[in-house]
Amino acid sequence: MKASAFQYVRPENLTEAIELLSGDPDGGAMAISGGQSLLVLMGLRFAMANTLVDISRLPELHRVSESADRVFLGAATTHAMIEDRKVPDPSSGLMPRVASKIAYRSVRNLGTIGGSMALADSAADWPACLIALDADIVIMGAHGERREKAEDFVRGPYETALLPAELVVGIDIPHRRTARWGTNKVARKSGAFADSLAVFVDSSNDGPARLALTGTASHARLLPRTSTYAHENRILDNADLRATILADLEDVDPLADAYRQRCHVATAMRAIAEARL
Ligand SMILES: Cc1cc2nc3c(=O)[nH]c(=O)nc-3n(C[C@H](O)[C@H](O)[C@H](O)COP(=O)(O)OP(=O)(O)OC[C@H]3O[C@@H](n4cnc5c(N)ncnc54)[C@H](O)[C@@H]3O)c2cc1C
Repeated sequence: MKASAFQYVRPENLTEAIELLSGDPDGGAMAISGGQSLLVLMGLRFAMANTLVDISRLPELHRVSESADRVFLGAATTHAMIEDRKVPDPSSGLMPRVASKIAYRSVRNLGTIGGSMALADSAADWPACLIALDADIVIMGAHGERREKAEDFVRGPYETALLPAELVVGIDIPHRRTARWGTNKVARKSGAFADSLAVFVDSSNDGPARLALTGTASHARLLPRTSTYAHENRILDNADLRATILADLEDVDPLADAYRQRCHVATAMRAIAEARL
């Protein structure tokens, strides 16, 4: 199968891009950034667009800035730029590590952090990482700019807080200079989407601990009981930790089968253990 016919336009700036997307109220115009997911979905006709609005070169989506407390990464920042530390890293090495485990280098060269968040694949890596880091998603639409916490932005499989004709402009991430972190991904083969991915960030000075999980039947979620348990108990009892993770999974992934549940328990325990090394 191949994609249905579409027009291709490349706007000069963000305002023009939003106008083009707003001009097609039936959703026939779609943004394309790295194209690493959208072109696959269009080829399978899971996604169809009359017009592709190429946002990959918009200067506003390439903006990168760093302040004392936070780092802003434009939505067009690629996985490879984060992996190669070509942009500031607010996470003391966590984000480059997560980036390096996404797909293959050719996908990482083109795929973007904004595109990954906007797509909200239930097995994608960035949603769990950005939830664990307590990042904000910066959004622009015809009515101006707004932001959502990463954990509120992803709402279901391929479902986000984006309204029609809104774009992710960038990700605003607090510095985690003194954080201890761990992450673990279980996938059927190297470079594949996660069966389970856990990201744990524990920083007594920079904020409370946060453990987030991807690979659920729905979307990436925070595990609140496990986050608190791992933060408060310096000596972890494996049986208690496992029971706490399972209690969180009843809310976070209630439909998980035995395989998926074992994957989640394993990735969560390994991520916490790595942060304790
Ligand atoms: C073989 C393969 C393996 C992969 N493995 C993994 C993996 O292990 N982990 C993982 O996380 N991902 C994986 N991916 C997905 C990859 O990371 C994609 O690059 C990413 O999910 C989408 O980014 P993109 O820039 O290519 O977005 P695109 O494909 O261009 O767009 C994806 C969707 O997001 C929308 N969009 C794009 N940018 C914006 C924006 N700024 N604002 C609003 N909407 C926007 C588009 O309209 C479209 O609906 C894999 C992809 C492939 C092809």
